[in-house]
Amino acid sequence: MQTRGVQGFEEQKKVMNLSLAAAVVLLAAKVTAAIVTGSSAIYSDAAESVVHLLAVMFAAWALRLAHKPADETHHFGHDKVSFLSAGFEGAMISAAAVLIFYEAIRQIIFGVKLENLGFGIIVTAVAAGVNLALGLSLMAVGKRNGSALIRANGAHVLTDVWSSAAVLVALGLYQRTGWTYWDPIAAMLAALNIMRVGVKLIRESLGGLLDESDPTTEKQICDLLDREVKERGLSYHNLRYRHSGRTHWVEFHLVFDDALTVGEAHEAATEVEARVADLFQPLGRVISHLEPKSAEHHDESWEER
Ligand SMILES: [Zn+2]
Ligand SMILES: [Zn+2]
Repeated sequence: MQTRGVQGFEEQKKVMNLSLAAAVVLLAAKVTAAIVTGSSAIYSDAAESVVHLLAVMFAAWALRLAHKPADETHHFGHDKVSFLSAGFEGAMISAAAVLIFYEAIRQIIFGVKLENLGFGIIVTAVAAGVNLALGLSLMAVGKRNGSALIRANGAHVLTDVWSSAAVLVALGLYQRTGWTYWDPIAAMLAALNIMRVGVKLIRESLGGLLDESDPTTEKQICDLLDREVKERGLSYHNLRYRHSGRTHWVEFHLVFDDALTVGEAHEAATEVEARVADLFQPLGRVISHLEPKSAEHHDESWEER
């Protein structure tokens, strides 16, 4: 897991600005298409575009805040706002899903009247293409930079590709069969999918805000610590790891022979800390607490060693 520095930030800002621009253009296009066609599937796409824009604006702001360095009032930096952004994005699209569902049911009850479908189909197909390209690049940049915020935005944008695909299938079926209910049915399926992604984003954001542990990273740290500690004839316990959005925080206790001087122990501890921090270049923050063997004390309840 790598977290890159300034260059990574530039890349993330660029892809987020693209996302923002796409959100504005697609909102205008979809609202026009919804009015012209009267399709509830396209209307649902357009409704989603409104909250889409709000979510992307929030994410663009959060991305900049997340990269602000630590200061007197935020000693641990500002990167946890990434998780808040992912949660906000999830909440926003979940709200859109409810709205879409409501509109589809309304159309089923009161009937559907579809017009100018050719225009709606073109707009939706172009939107799907734009979102597919955008969503894939957001996912790639998010993974490369270990950014939950960018990945959340990517997941959201890819959801919209599926919604547009559902619209296209529904309108195609309508043109072949003349049965208008394909349209609200597609809208409802799209809404369920949006809801699924929304709930997943909210869950992930809660996990991040509550410093949920990540078994893969934890195993990586344990393996490294086991090696480093063995080499120096030490032991460790009370290992704690958390990821605050960009920065990886690790702390543990190191147990030394009572006969060592503070200077010697500190030197070894500094080396071990540096090796662990190397796992997360350049955003690893590692702190160890030094103990003599005679006063060794474990107090993390989940640890067995
Ligand atoms: Zn969206
Ligand atoms: Zn201890």
